[in-house]
Amino acid sequence: MSKVGLFGGTFDPIHHGHLITAQSVREIRNLDKIIFIPSYISPHKKDVKTTSPEHRLNMIKLAIEGVDFFECSDYEISKGGVSYTIDTIREFKKKYDHIEFIIGYDNIFKFHKWKDPDEIMKLAKIIVLKRKSSVPPPHEDKYVKQAIFVQTRGIEISATDIRERVKKGLPIHFLVPEKVKEYIYNFNLYG
Ligand code: ATP
Repeated sequence: MSKVGLFGGTFDPIHHGHLITAQSVREIRNLDKIIFIPSYISPHKKDVKTTSPEHRLNMIKLAIEGVDFFECSDYEISKGGVSYTIDTIREFKKKYDHIEFIIGYDNIFKFHKWKDPDEIMKLAKIIVLKRKSSVPPPHEDKYVKQAIFVQTRGIEISATDIRERVKKGLPIHFLVPEKVKEYIYNFNLYG
């Protein structure tokens, strides 16, 4: 039986923080693979303008090239509309029995506001990325209690910072894989 981790996000762009974390979660949780799923429209970032989904997906493909325990899926992009986690998990449940859905630390404390949180918890284990710098939990509800917190090898990189650095003409070496860096410059993203 295949145990998979689903890692959703905007990935605008994907960076080494995402990749190192995903590799670490796979080992800690003993998963066969991690599937990166870029959102079409994130429910949490409905008003934020993002780079085209095709560019975001292409950058993920370049970043994970040759890594046999990483995959990406265009499911949310092909579906279009707002990318709700419950829809994605229902879809992947058709193929995989054991699903672990990876979310950032802050997200678990807003999880009660997500669409169908009880059903999400029924279908998948929720893995929360805890960093050394994470503040203590602001509250504990049934979702926080059920979630599995994993302390990953954290590196403080954010996509926002990368976009701002490109805009200012600052180098982005070491923050993103080389091929992603070239892609960003070739297509003049974030300029
Ligand atoms: P932005 O700065 O545009 O908000 P981001 O870098 O936080 O983007 P997202 O694509 O929104 O990236 O994040 C996808 C997932 O990756 C989220 O669950 C987020 O918490 C997590 N994440 C983002 N950056 C890191 C990092 N440096 N280490 C570990 N997890 C991260």
